[in-house]
Amino acid sequence: MDAGSLTTPRRTTRQIHVGDVAVGGGAPVTIQSMTITKTADVEGTLQQIYALASAGCDIVRCTCNEIEAAEGLARIVPRSPVPIIADIHHQYRMALAALEAGVHGLRLNPGNIRKPEHIKAVATEAGARGVPIRIGVNGGSLDPALYAKHGGRVTPEAMVESAMQELAYFDEVGFDDVKISVKASNVPLMIEAYRQLADATDHPLHLGVTEAGPPPAGLVKATAGIATLLAEGIGDTIRYSLTADPVEEARAGRQLLEAMGLRERKNIDLIACPSCGRAEVDVIKVANDALAAFGDREIPLQVAVMGCVVNGPGEARDADLGIAAGRHRGHLFVKGQNVAVVPEDEMVDALVEWAEFIVEHGTEAALARVDTTKAQREAERDRAALLDDKGADANRSEQRVEIIRNL
Ligand code: SF4
Repeated sequence: MDAGSLTTPRRTTRQIHVGDVAVGGGAPVTIQSMTITKTADVEGTLQQIYALASAGCDIVRCTCNEIEAAEGLARIVPRSPVPIIADIHHQYRMALAALEAGVHGLRLNPGNIRKPEHIKAVATEAGARGVPIRIGVNGGSLDPALYAKHGGRVTPEAMVESAMQELAYFDEVGFDDVKISVKASNVPLMIEAYRQLADATDHPLHLGVTEAGPPPAGLVKATAGIATLLAEGIGDTIRYSLTADPVEEARAGRQLLEAMGLRERKNIDLIACPSCGRAEVDVIKVANDALAAFGDREIPLQVAVMGCVVNGPGEARDADLGIAAGRHRGHLFVKGQNVAVVPEDEMVDALVEWAEFIVEHGTEAALARVDTTKAQREAERDRAALLDDKGADANRSEQRVEIIRNL
């Protein structure tokens, strides 16, 4: 097994295209987010779309809730760097207007647009233009008739039935360019609904935990739902619904897919030790400073921030690059080999500089760049001094165990 990838095969689905982005059918899992500007504010919305695209978002959704929003879409779509989906809730005419604006996809909420003739009119027009539709079932706005039929509760069965009902209307007009979501804010409910949906259809699935809330709880909930399903091979495109800047949603989506080996790494993977009594620096601060310094730079390396040179380089030997603190200075290491010593306040700058060098010239060139024997000697010196200072039991664990034993 490749230690960096999942073993469960991804579910086989048909493939659709949102603009030039393939969804399902073996395509890479894509990241979506949604603008929070008024869509009529063309420049403000485009700024947000560009920010989302540079944070790794593949597809962006904008609300189309009024005619001014549809007019905005007509101006936004030609200038957008990524495909645009119009989010439609109550008025089917807004879907027709969004299609006229040239959007690459629609999202319809079957709980809110319920008249079959309206649903079929939109599907017919989308079909004529080759535009896909997401059937976006939402636990919080389930069709009241289905709610009543399922005992006055939102159940996985009710959500799947809502999606299948909409698919049947589409089928009546020969439209099947569809992906589906069955989102809920309750994580177990959402997981079960998607599992049942995955058994019921071969359309690609858009995953999300709706109204997850602000981070960190929102991130945890969304990850619990989305990652569980992805690990089972279910899911073709994802969205984190956070009460936060949408760029946070895009970053979270990207990071999740990279962590699960479902997308190629684009930005750094920063690992850091949890810190302990041996730490020679404020590891939390250095790690956060490093994250801020790397920002959204496209540096697809694993970078380690370690609190001490006693254990740091060894524990993070698999990282592409790292730094470990020792007596007011930082020991830089590349693939576990010490390469340089820098003053403590230059640790973060040095990490960024070395990372950029490795991305441009490779690891071998980085190791050949310096006298690694000298750096190794310096690291050994600090290591020995720190061991002298704090001994082998810096956290006093063994001393405590001894006391406990003697109680
Ligand atoms: S021993 Fe060093 S590297 Fe390990 S957690 Fe403590 S400070 Fe960090």
